Amino acid sequence: MSFFVSVRARNSKFIIVGGGIHGAYLAISLLKQGMAALDDLIIIDPGDEPLSNWMAVTSNVGMDYLRSPKVHHLDTEPFSLKKFARNRSYTRPLFIAPNDRPSLDLFNNHAGKVLEESRIRERFYHGLVSRVSLNKNSASVSVNGETLKSQYVILSIGQGDNINWPDWALAAKQRGAPVTHVLERSFSRLRLSDTATVAVIGGGMSAVHTAISLAGKDRMILLLTPHALRQHDYDSDPGWMGPKYLTLFRRIPNPKERRSVINEARNTGSITRDLKKKLLLLEKRNQCKVYTDSIVACTHVSASITQIRLSGGDVFGVNQIVLATGYNSTRPGGEMVDQLASNYNLPCSECGYPVTDVSLRWHNQLFVTGALAELVVGPASRNIIGARMAAEKIVRYLNLDSTNI
Ligand SMILES: Cc1cc2nc3c(=O)[nH]c(=O)nc-3n(C[C@H](O)[C@H](O)[C@H](O)COP(=O)(O)OP(=O)(O)OC[C@H]3O[C@@H](n4cnc5c(N)ncnc54)[C@H](O)[C@@H]3O)c2cc1C
Repeated sequence: MSFFVSVRARNSKFIIVGGGIHGAYLAISLLKQGMAALDDLIIIDPGDEPLSNWMAVTSNVGMDYLRSPKVHHLDTEPFSLKKFARNRSYTRPLFIAPNDRPSLDLFNNHAGKVLEESRIRERFYHGLVSRVSLNKNSASVSVNGETLKSQYVILSIGQGDNINWPDWALAAKQRGAPVTHVLERSFSRLRLSDTATVAVIGGGMSAVHTAISLAGKDRMILLLTPHALRQHDYDSDPGWMGPKYLTLFRRIPNPKERRSVINEARNTGSITRDLKKKLLLLEKRNQCKVYTDSIVACTHVSASITQIRLSGGDVFGVNQIVLATGYNSTRPGGEMVDQLASNYNLPCSECGYPVTDVSLRWHNQLFVTGALAELVVGPASRNIIGARMAAEKIVRYLNLDSTNI
Protein backbone atom coordinates (compact mmCIF):
# COMPACT_ATOMS: atom_id res chain seq x y z
CA MET A 1 0.00 0.00 0.00
CA SER A 2 1.38 3.47 -0.85
CA PHE A 3 0.32 6.94 0.11
CA PHE A 4 0.38 9.88 -2.26
CA VAL A 5 -1.45 13.09 -1.40
CA SER A 6 0.27 13.96 1.86
CA VAL A 7 3.72 13.35 0.38
CA ARG A 8 3.17 15.67 -2.55
CA ALA A 9 1.67 18.32 -0.33
CA ARG A 10 4.66 18.91 1.92
CA ASN A 11 8.36 18.42 2.39
CA SER A 12 9.50 15.79 4.84
CA LYS A 13 12.46 15.74 7.16
CA PHE A 14 13.79 12.31 6.20
CA ILE A 15 13.55 10.34 2.98
CA ILE A 16 14.75 6.80 3.50
CA VAL A 17 15.59 5.07 0.22
CA GLY A 18 14.98 1.36 0.74
CA GLY A 19 12.35 -0.26 2.97
CA GLY A 20 14.26 -3.39 3.95
CA ILE A 21 15.43 -4.29 7.44
CA HIS A 22 17.89 -1.39 7.46
CA GLY A 23 15.48 1.29 6.20
CA ALA A 24 12.64 0.09 8.45
CA TYR A 25 14.89 -0.19 11.51
CA LEU A 26 16.18 3.32 10.97
CA ALA A 27 12.67 4.72 10.59
CA ILE A 28 11.58 2.98 13.82
CA SER A 29 14.68 4.30 15.65
CA LEU A 30 14.07 7.86 14.49
CA LEU A 31 10.49 7.63 15.75
CA LYS A 32 11.32 5.96 19.06
CA GLN A 33 14.23 8.31 19.82
CA GLY A 34 12.05 11.34 19.17
CA MET A 35 14.07 12.46 16.14
CA ALA A 36 11.06 12.28 13.85
CA ALA A 37 7.28 12.27 13.95
CA LEU A 38 5.51 9.91 11.57
CA ASP A 39 4.82 12.75 9.12
CA ASP A 40 8.52 13.61 8.98
CA LEU A 41 9.32 10.31 7.26
CA ILE A 42 9.02 8.91 3.78
CA ILE A 43 10.28 5.40 3.05
CA ILE A 44 10.62 4.60 -0.63
CA ASP A 45 10.90 1.04 -1.92
CA PRO A 46 9.83 -0.81 -5.10
CA GLY A 47 8.24 -3.62 -3.06
CA ASP A 48 4.60 -3.71 -1.99
CA GLU A 49 5.47 -3.77 1.70
CA PRO A 50 8.40 -3.00 4.00
CA LEU A 51 10.82 -5.94 4.17
CA SER A 52 9.56 -7.43 0.91
CA ASN A 53 13.05 -8.25 -0.34
CA TRP A 54 13.90 -9.99 2.94
CA MET A 55 10.65 -11.99 2.75
CA ALA A 56 11.36 -12.98 -0.86
CA VAL A 57 14.97 -14.11 -0.51
CA THR A 58 14.53 -15.99 2.76
CA SER A 59 11.52 -17.81 1.35
CA ASN A 60 13.32 -18.50 -1.96
CA VAL A 61 16.21 -20.25 -0.22
CA GLY A 62 13.83 -22.12 2.11
CA MET A 63 15.49 -20.76 5.25
CA ASP A 64 13.89 -22.03 8.47
CA TYR A 65 16.11 -20.44 11.15
CA LEU A 66 18.16 -17.24 11.08
CA ARG A 67 21.90 -17.31 11.42
CA SER A 68 21.86 -14.38 13.84
CA PRO A 69 20.79 -14.60 17.52
CA LYS A 70 17.44 -13.62 19.03
CA VAL A 71 18.62 -10.15 20.09
CA HIS A 72 19.01 -9.13 16.42
CA HIS A 73 15.62 -8.06 15.08
CA LEU A 74 13.56 -5.07 13.96
CA ASP A 75 12.82 -3.55 17.34
CA THR A 76 15.10 -1.17 19.21
CA GLU A 77 14.74 -3.03 22.53
CA PRO A 78 17.14 -6.05 22.46
CA PHE A 79 14.84 -8.48 24.35
CA SER A 80 11.70 -7.55 22.44
CA LEU A 81 11.74 -10.74 20.32
CA LYS A 82 12.33 -12.94 23.37
CA LYS A 83 9.35 -11.35 25.14
CA PHE A 84 7.21 -11.67 22.01
CA ALA A 85 8.03 -15.40 21.84
CA ARG A 86 6.69 -16.01 25.38
CA ASN A 87 3.11 -15.46 24.27
CA ARG A 88 3.25 -17.60 21.14
CA SER A 89 2.82 -21.25 20.43
CA TYR A 90 4.49 -22.69 17.36
CA THR A 91 4.63 -26.14 15.88
CA ARG A 92 8.44 -26.31 15.97
CA PRO A 93 11.16 -24.95 18.28
CA LEU A 94 11.21 -21.15 18.40
CA PHE A 95 14.97 -21.00 18.85
CA ILE A 96 17.84 -23.31 18.01
CA ALA A 97 21.44 -23.64 19.14
CA PRO A 98 23.98 -22.26 18.96
CA ASN A 99 23.23 -18.73 20.16
CA ASP A 100 19.42 -19.03 20.38
CA ARG A 101 18.71 -18.34 16.72
CA PRO A 102 15.02 -17.60 16.06
CA SER A 103 12.87 -19.41 13.52
CA LEU A 104 12.10 -17.34 10.43
CA ASP A 105 8.36 -17.52 11.24
CA LEU A 106 8.93 -16.09 14.70
CA PHE A 107 11.28 -13.39 13.41
CA ASN A 108 8.83 -12.35 10.68
CA ASN A 109 5.78 -12.36 12.97
CA HIS A 110 7.64 -10.21 15.46
CA ALA A 111 8.76 -7.86 12.67
CA GLY A 112 5.11 -7.64 11.55
CA LYS A 113 4.06 -6.58 15.05
CA VAL A 114 6.85 -3.97 15.27
CA LEU A 115 5.88 -2.55 11.86
CA GLU A 116 2.23 -2.43 12.90
CA GLU A 117 2.96 -0.60 16.13
CA SER A 118 5.32 1.89 14.48
CA ARG A 119 2.73 2.67 11.74
CA ILE A 120 5.58 3.22 9.25
CA ARG A 121 3.55 1.44 6.55
CA GLU A 122 1.54 4.69 6.39
CA ARG A 123 4.70 6.45 5.23
CA PHE A 124 5.67 3.80 2.67
CA TYR A 125 5.95 5.01 -0.90
CA HIS A 126 6.09 2.49 -3.72
CA GLY A 127 8.80 3.32 -6.28
CA LEU A 128 12.43 3.13 -7.34
CA VAL A 129 14.50 6.24 -6.74
CA SER A 130 16.40 7.10 -9.92
CA ARG A 131 18.22 10.20 -8.74
CA VAL A 132 19.24 11.96 -5.53
CA SER A 133 20.03 15.70 -5.55
CA LEU A 134 21.81 17.50 -2.74
CA ASN A 135 21.80 21.16 -1.75
CA LYS A 136 23.35 23.08 1.11
CA ASN A 137 20.50 22.47 3.57
CA SER A 138 18.14 20.16 1.73
CA ALA A 139 17.94 17.17 -0.58
CA SER A 140 15.50 15.68 -3.05
CA VAL A 141 14.87 12.41 -4.85
CA SER A 142 13.32 11.60 -8.22
CA VAL A 143 10.83 8.76 -8.12
CA ASN A 144 7.92 7.78 -10.37
CA GLY A 145 8.49 10.98 -12.40
CA GLU A 146 8.11 13.34 -9.43
CA THR A 147 10.49 15.07 -7.07
CA LEU A 148 10.18 14.64 -3.31
CA LYS A 149 12.06 17.01 -1.04
CA SER A 150 13.50 16.55 2.43
CA GLN A 151 16.12 17.79 4.81
CA TYR A 152 18.03 14.49 4.79
CA VAL A 153 18.21 11.48 2.49
CA ILE A 154 19.34 8.12 3.89
CA LEU A 155 20.41 5.36 1.51
CA SER A 156 19.44 1.92 2.87
CA ILE A 157 19.39 0.14 -0.46
CA GLY A 158 20.78 -3.31 0.37
CA GLN A 159 22.51 -5.29 -2.38
CA GLY A 160 19.55 -6.64 -4.32
CA ASP A 161 20.62 -4.87 -7.51
CA ASN A 162 24.06 -6.45 -7.34
CA ILE A 163 23.36 -10.17 -7.73
CA ASN A 164 26.31 -12.26 -8.87
CA TRP A 165 25.69 -14.09 -12.15
CA PRO A 166 28.83 -15.97 -13.29
CA ASP A 167 29.68 -15.40 -16.99
CA TRP A 168 28.99 -19.03 -17.99
CA ALA A 169 25.53 -18.83 -16.39
CA LEU A 170 24.60 -15.59 -18.16
CA ALA A 171 25.71 -17.04 -21.49
CA ALA A 172 23.79 -20.28 -20.86
CA LYS A 173 20.62 -18.39 -19.91
CA GLN A 174 20.87 -16.30 -23.08
CA ARG A 175 20.99 -19.57 -25.04
CA GLY A 176 17.75 -20.65 -23.34
CA ALA A 177 19.12 -22.92 -20.59
CA PRO A 178 16.92 -23.15 -17.45
CA VAL A 179 19.16 -21.11 -15.13
CA THR A 180 17.70 -19.02 -12.30
CA HIS A 181 19.13 -17.16 -9.31
CA VAL A 182 17.68 -17.86 -5.88
CA LEU A 183 18.29 -14.27 -4.68
CA GLU A 184 16.11 -12.78 -7.42
CA ARG A 185 12.60 -11.85 -6.38
CA SER A 186 11.23 -13.57 -9.48
CA PHE A 187 12.64 -16.97 -8.48
CA SER A 188 9.92 -19.55 -7.86
CA ARG A 189 10.57 -22.96 -6.38
CA LEU A 190 7.07 -23.99 -7.49
CA ARG A 191 8.31 -24.10 -11.09
CA LEU A 192 10.68 -26.97 -10.28
CA SER A 193 9.31 -30.41 -11.00
CA ASP A 194 9.17 -32.90 -8.10
CA THR A 195 11.17 -35.38 -10.15
CA ALA A 196 13.85 -33.01 -11.47
CA THR A 197 17.60 -33.24 -11.06
CA VAL A 198 18.64 -29.78 -9.91
CA ALA A 199 22.17 -28.36 -9.82
CA VAL A 200 22.54 -25.81 -7.02
CA ILE A 201 25.63 -23.65 -7.44
CA GLY A 202 27.37 -22.11 -4.41
CA GLY A 203 28.93 -23.05 -1.09
CA GLY A 204 27.44 -20.66 1.48
CA MET A 205 24.28 -20.48 3.58
CA SER A 206 21.97 -19.61 0.67
CA ALA A 207 23.23 -22.54 -1.43
CA VAL A 208 23.01 -25.09 1.35
CA HIS A 209 19.57 -23.88 2.52
CA THR A 210 18.41 -24.12 -1.09
CA ALA A 211 19.84 -27.61 -1.57
CA ILE A 212 18.29 -28.91 1.66
CA SER A 213 14.89 -27.36 1.08
CA LEU A 214 14.67 -28.47 -2.57
CA ALA A 215 15.77 -32.08 -2.03
CA GLY A 216 12.82 -34.44 -2.18
CA LYS A 217 11.91 -38.09 -2.38
CA ASP A 218 12.25 -38.03 -6.17
CA ARG A 219 14.12 -34.78 -6.65
CA MET A 220 17.91 -35.14 -6.74
CA ILE A 221 20.18 -32.23 -5.88
CA LEU A 222 23.76 -31.78 -7.08
CA LEU A 223 25.38 -29.13 -4.91
CA LEU A 224 28.39 -27.68 -6.71
CA THR A 225 30.51 -25.65 -4.32
CA PRO A 226 33.68 -23.86 -5.46
CA HIS A 227 35.40 -24.68 -2.14
CA ALA A 228 35.20 -27.32 0.59
CA LEU A 229 32.33 -26.58 2.98
CA ARG A 230 33.45 -24.14 5.69
CA GLN A 231 31.77 -24.13 9.07
CA HIS A 232 31.23 -20.94 11.10
CA ASP A 233 28.36 -19.97 13.38
CA TYR A 234 28.34 -16.29 12.34
CA ASP A 235 28.95 -14.26 9.19
CA SER A 236 31.83 -12.67 11.13
CA ASP A 237 33.20 -13.03 14.66
CA PRO A 238 30.81 -11.50 17.27
CA GLY A 239 33.75 -9.31 18.38
CA TRP A 240 32.91 -7.21 15.29
CA MET A 241 29.60 -6.18 16.85
CA GLY A 242 31.27 -4.22 19.64
CA PRO A 243 34.44 -2.56 20.89
CA LYS A 244 36.52 -5.77 20.99
CA TYR A 245 37.57 -5.38 17.34
CA LEU A 246 35.87 -2.16 16.28
CA THR A 247 37.94 0.15 18.47
CA LEU A 248 41.13 -0.79 16.63
CA PHE A 249 39.34 -0.97 13.26
CA ARG A 250 38.23 2.64 13.55
CA ARG A 251 41.77 3.75 14.21
CA ILE A 252 42.80 2.54 10.74
CA PRO A 253 42.99 5.77 8.74
CA ASN A 254 43.30 4.19 5.30
CA PRO A 255 40.01 2.96 3.71
CA LYS A 256 41.95 0.50 1.55
CA GLU A 257 43.34 -1.13 4.67
CA ARG A 258 39.87 -1.16 6.27
CA ARG A 259 38.58 -2.96 3.18
CA SER A 260 41.18 -5.70 3.50
CA VAL A 261 40.39 -6.10 7.21
CA ILE A 262 36.68 -6.44 6.36
CA ASN A 263 37.34 -9.01 3.63
CA GLU A 264 39.55 -10.99 5.97
CA ALA A 265 37.02 -10.86 8.84
CA ARG A 266 34.01 -12.08 6.87
CA ASN A 267 33.32 -15.78 6.91
CA THR A 268 32.20 -15.60 3.29
CA GLY A 269 30.76 -18.77 1.84
CA SER A 270 30.51 -20.51 5.20
CA ILE A 271 27.65 -22.45 6.81
CA THR A 272 26.43 -23.15 10.33
CA ARG A 273 26.94 -26.55 11.94
CA ASP A 274 23.24 -27.51 11.89
CA LEU A 275 23.10 -26.98 8.11
CA LYS A 276 26.22 -29.08 7.59
CA LYS A 277 24.66 -31.88 9.62
CA LYS A 278 21.43 -31.75 7.59
CA LEU A 279 23.38 -31.79 4.33
CA LEU A 280 25.40 -34.84 5.35
CA LEU A 281 22.16 -36.61 6.25
CA LEU A 282 20.72 -35.88 2.80
CA GLU A 283 23.89 -37.24 1.20
CA LYS A 284 23.48 -40.44 3.22
CA ARG A 285 19.90 -40.73 1.93
CA ASN A 286 21.14 -40.22 -1.65
CA GLN A 287 18.97 -37.13 -2.13
CA CYS A 288 21.94 -34.84 -2.57
CA LYS A 289 25.48 -35.13 -3.85
CA VAL A 290 28.11 -32.51 -3.03
CA TYR A 291 30.92 -31.78 -5.50
CA THR A 292 33.75 -29.36 -4.76
CA ASP A 293 34.22 -28.14 -8.29
CA SER A 294 33.28 -25.40 -10.75
CA ILE A 295 31.37 -25.45 -14.01
CA VAL A 296 33.50 -24.82 -17.10
CA ALA A 297 30.85 -25.45 -19.76
CA CYS A 298 27.08 -25.57 -19.88
CA THR A 299 25.21 -26.84 -22.95
CA HIS A 300 21.46 -26.86 -23.42
CA VAL A 301 21.03 -30.32 -24.97
CA SER A 302 17.22 -30.56 -25.24
CA ALA A 303 14.08 -28.89 -23.92
CA SER A 304 14.54 -30.54 -20.56
CA ILE A 305 18.23 -31.51 -20.29
CA THR A 306 21.20 -29.22 -19.78
CA GLN A 307 24.67 -30.69 -19.71
CA ILE A 308 27.20 -29.27 -17.29
CA ARG A 309 30.92 -29.99 -17.43
CA LEU A 310 33.05 -29.52 -14.31
CA SER A 311 36.68 -28.48 -14.25
CA GLY A 312 37.60 -31.92 -12.83
CA GLY A 313 36.17 -33.55 -15.99
CA ASP A 314 32.82 -34.84 -14.61
CA VAL A 315 29.79 -34.31 -16.85
CA PHE A 316 26.16 -34.31 -15.67
CA GLY A 317 22.78 -33.89 -17.29
CA VAL A 318 20.44 -31.78 -15.16
CA ASN A 319 16.93 -30.39 -15.59
CA GLN A 320 17.45 -27.10 -13.77
CA ILE A 321 20.33 -24.93 -12.58
CA VAL A 322 19.77 -22.76 -9.51
CA LEU A 323 22.46 -20.21 -8.73
CA ALA A 324 23.10 -19.32 -5.09
CA THR A 325 26.26 -17.39 -5.87
CA GLY A 326 25.58 -14.38 -3.64
CA TYR A 327 26.21 -10.76 -4.47
CA ASN A 328 29.00 -8.99 -6.36
CA SER A 329 31.57 -7.23 -4.23
CA THR A 330 31.27 -3.97 -6.17
CA ARG A 331 29.47 -0.93 -4.72
CA PRO A 332 25.68 -1.42 -4.77
CA GLY A 333 23.22 1.18 -6.05
CA GLY A 334 24.11 1.12 -9.75
CA GLU A 335 23.70 4.27 -11.79
CA MET A 336 21.80 6.12 -9.06
CA VAL A 337 24.75 5.95 -6.63
CA ASP A 338 27.37 6.32 -9.40
CA GLN A 339 25.78 9.61 -10.50
CA LEU A 340 25.37 10.83 -6.95
CA ALA A 341 29.04 10.20 -6.15
CA SER A 342 30.22 11.85 -9.34
CA ASN A 343 27.81 14.85 -9.37
CA TYR A 344 28.76 15.89 -5.83
CA ASN A 345 32.32 14.63 -5.83
CA LEU A 346 31.58 12.42 -2.80
CA PRO A 347 34.66 10.66 -1.37
CA CYS A 348 35.02 6.99 -2.27
CA SER A 349 37.68 4.46 -1.41
CA GLU A 350 39.57 2.48 -4.03
CA CYS A 351 36.95 -0.27 -3.75
CA GLY A 352 34.31 2.31 -4.75
CA TYR A 353 32.53 2.34 -1.38
CA PRO A 354 31.63 5.60 0.42
CA VAL A 355 34.13 7.19 2.73
CA THR A 356 31.83 8.77 5.30
CA ASP A 357 32.38 10.48 8.64
CA VAL A 358 31.88 8.51 11.89
CA SER A 359 28.16 9.36 11.82
CA LEU A 360 27.78 7.79 8.34
CA ARG A 361 27.32 11.15 6.65
CA TRP A 362 28.52 11.04 3.05
CA HIS A 363 27.41 14.67 2.60
CA ASN A 364 25.78 17.19 4.99
CA GLN A 365 22.34 16.02 3.87
CA LEU A 366 23.08 12.37 3.06
CA PHE A 367 23.59 9.30 5.27
CA VAL A 368 24.21 5.67 4.28
CA THR A 369 23.63 2.30 6.01
CA GLY A 370 24.25 -1.38 5.19
CA ALA A 371 26.93 -2.33 2.67
CA LEU A 372 27.45 1.35 1.81
CA ALA A 373 28.40 2.04 5.45
CA GLU A 374 30.77 -0.83 6.02
CA LEU A 375 34.03 1.14 5.93
CA VAL A 376 32.84 2.67 9.22
CA VAL A 377 30.47 0.07 10.70
CA GLY A 378 32.75 -2.87 9.85
CA PRO A 379 32.21 -6.48 8.71
CA ALA A 380 28.73 -6.82 10.32
CA SER A 381 27.39 -3.73 8.56
CA ARG A 382 25.21 -5.66 6.06
CA ASN A 383 23.61 -7.79 8.77
CA ILE A 384 20.61 -7.11 10.97
CA ILE A 385 22.88 -5.95 13.80
CA GLY A 386 24.47 -3.56 11.27
CA ALA A 387 21.12 -1.77 11.01
CA ARG A 388 21.19 -1.16 14.76
CA MET A 389 24.82 -0.03 14.68
CA ALA A 390 24.14 2.40 11.81
CA ALA A 391 20.95 3.79 13.37
CA GLU A 392 22.76 4.47 16.65
CA LYS A 393 25.38 6.55 14.84
CA ILE A 394 22.86 8.51 12.79
CA VAL A 395 20.53 9.18 15.73
CA ARG A 396 23.47 10.24 17.92
CA TYR A 397 24.55 12.75 15.27
CA LEU A 398 21.03 14.15 14.85
CA ASN A 399 20.63 14.41 18.61
CA LEU A 400 23.86 16.37 18.99
CA ASP A 401 23.00 18.51 15.98
CA SER A 402 19.59 19.42 17.42
CA THR A 403 21.05 20.32 20.82
CA ASN A 404 23.63 22.58 19.10
CA ILE A 405 21.00 24.68 17.32
C1 LIG B 1 18.98 -15.60 2.34
C2 LIG B 1 19.55 -14.61 3.30
C3 LIG B 1 19.50 -14.85 4.66
C4 LIG B 1 20.04 -13.93 5.57
N1 LIG B 1 19.99 -14.21 6.89
C5 LIG B 1 20.50 -13.32 7.76
C6 LIG B 1 20.44 -13.57 9.17
O1 LIG B 1 19.98 -14.62 9.61
N2 LIG B 1 20.93 -12.63 10.01
C7 LIG B 1 21.48 -11.45 9.57
O2 LIG B 1 21.91 -10.63 10.38
N3 LIG B 1 21.55 -11.19 8.23
C8 LIG B 1 21.08 -12.08 7.33
N4 LIG B 1 21.16 -11.83 5.99
C9 LIG B 1 21.76 -10.59 5.54
C10 LIG B 1 20.55 -9.71 5.24
O3 LIG B 1 20.46 -9.43 3.88
C11 LIG B 1 20.46 -8.46 5.96
O4 LIG B 1 20.54 -8.68 7.31
C12 LIG B 1 19.22 -7.63 5.64
O5 LIG B 1 18.21 -8.23 4.90
C13 LIG B 1 19.70 -6.48 4.85
O6 LIG B 1 18.70 -5.53 4.86
P1 LIG B 1 18.75 -4.30 3.92
O7 LIG B 1 17.64 -3.42 4.32
O8 LIG B 1 20.12 -3.71 3.91
O9 LIG B 1 18.56 -4.89 2.46
P2 LIG B 1 17.25 -5.37 1.68
O10 LIG B 1 16.46 -6.30 2.50
O11 LIG B 1 17.71 -5.85 0.36
O12 LIG B 1 16.41 -4.03 1.50
C14 LIG B 1 16.86 -2.97 0.70
C15 LIG B 1 15.67 -2.43 -0.05
O13 LIG B 1 16.06 -1.24 -0.76
C16 LIG B 1 15.39 -1.24 -2.00
N5 LIG B 1 16.08 -0.36 -2.94
C17 LIG B 1 17.27 -0.55 -3.55
N6 LIG B 1 17.53 0.47 -4.40
C18 LIG B 1 16.47 1.32 -4.31
C19 LIG B 1 16.14 2.54 -4.97
N7 LIG B 1 16.94 3.10 -5.87
N8 LIG B 1 14.95 3.14 -4.66
C20 LIG B 1 14.12 2.60 -3.73
N9 LIG B 1 14.40 1.43 -3.09
C21 LIG B 1 15.55 0.81 -3.39
C22 LIG B 1 15.44 -2.69 -2.43
O14 LIG B 1 14.50 -2.96 -3.44
C23 LIG B 1 15.15 -3.40 -1.11
O15 LIG B 1 13.78 -3.60 -0.94
C24 LIG B 1 20.64 -12.73 5.08
C25 LIG B 1 20.68 -12.50 3.70
C26 LIG B 1 20.15 -13.42 2.82
C27 LIG B 1 20.23 -13.16 1.35
